[in-house]
Amino acid sequence: MSFFDPNAYVKRLERLVEVCRNLGKSEDVKHLLQQVVNAACDLTGSQYSFLFTYEQETDLLKIVAGPLENRDALARVRVPIEKSLTGSVYSKSRSITINNAQSDPRMFHDMERVLRYTTQAICAVPVIFRGKTIGVLETVNKRDKSIYNEDDLIILETLASQAAIAALSTSLIEETENAYTEAKELDQMKNNFIAIASHELRTPLGLVLGHATFLRELISDEQQRSQVEIIIRNATKLKTIIEELANINGYQTGSARFRVKTVPINALIQKICEQFYEQACQNNISLQTNLLTQEIQIEGDEEKLVIAFSNLIKNALIFTNPQGHVVVSIEQLPGFVQISFDDDGIGIPENELHKIFTRFYQVQSHLTRKHGGMGLGLSATKAMIEMHKGKIWVESVEGKGSKFTVLLPISAQHNTMRP
Ligand code: ADP
Repeated sequence: MSFFDPNAYVKRLERLVEVCRNLGKSEDVKHLLQQVVNAACDLTGSQYSFLFTYEQETDLLKIVAGPLENRDALARVRVPIEKSLTGSVYSKSRSITINNAQSDPRMFHDMERVLRYTTQAICAVPVIFRGKTIGVLETVNKRDKSIYNEDDLIILETLASQAAIAALSTSLIEETENAYTEAKELDQMKNNFIAIASHELRTPLGLVLGHATFLRELISDEQQRSQVEIIIRNATKLKTIIEELANINGYQTGSARFRVKTVPINALIQKICEQFYEQACQNNISLQTNLLTQEIQIEGDEEKLVIAFSNLIKNALIFTNPQGHVVVSIEQLPGFVQISFDDDGIGIPENELHKIFTRFYQVQSHLTRKHGGMGLGLSATKAMIEMHKGKIWVESVEGKGSKFTVLLPISAQHNTMRP
């Protein structure tokens, strides 16, 4: 007759809590499941413990954790779902304790042969996750030859439920990590493709542009000249796309060329705006500038700044309806110059705002929208501003307009407004 020892009982519960707490820290599934069977063995005072899961290919149960010293031999064992004790726990999803196992007709003897033992008693519980049985946790033979009781069952059920949650969350983490690695590899392939394509296209396009420009000078016939103008205009558009691709890629891979010189920002903005007055006028949009009274110099790559600012003005004009307004303003802040591009155009839906600086992203589908473009302008702009250690952000209200703001550091020697 066994007597109830409250101290031993509390100790077992303490161990159970400790084991469950540690399960959450396990980094890989295999290690975690091994910890579960070790704890099951230990806490129930059993000779062996096994964890089985269902194997789809064979429609049998396989051992995923058991005594470590027999791991290889046990890995080959398969237990039928019908006509085995373990199988009946799995298929009926019901726990069992059997203390005279040899007289049970469902007894399956393969594991006894591998480990060379005779089963006297078995305690087995289903491993259930979200109502679905995914395996069986089983202990065999009490070391002190006593029988399995309700406490053993509770311990196994607790361990089984912890194992199910921990194993599933671990495998979810593994799946997420694998998906992330795959996405990273694909991203790398895309970067490589963009780098190769933009590099290979640059040279022939440069030749087309160079020869067409040369031809334009030689041709006196007006009609022929306008044909050559079309070639030059479209080749220049292609060049911009290639430059944008190369710039974004160069920024992401750290290989972008950066030709620094002192740039007068007031004059630069004025020059860029002048190039857009005609387009603004044609679309019946007012394009205004609020420049500084005193020039500010920054250290930067003028060509890249021209592309970045031009993109912002170009977009403001594209996404503003006739009779609309676009205002470009410069403001000096301590250590920085702030340039804002304000329009009262169509605006950007709030849920799209965080995506517009992403490469190839366009608010309207490429197929349904009225304007051309590849969704590269803003990501290239952001890349170029960040190359200058600057920042760019957008505020917008759909139907009311958008405001893009660029903040660029002023180099120390030019900073007349120290904080
Ligand atoms: P694209 O050159 O294809 O227009 P961009 O990267 O320049 O690509 O812009 C991405 C998207 O952001 C655009 O398709 C447009 O939907 C939105 N967008 C950019 N600027 C504005 C603006 N000033 N007003 C409204 N929408 C804008």
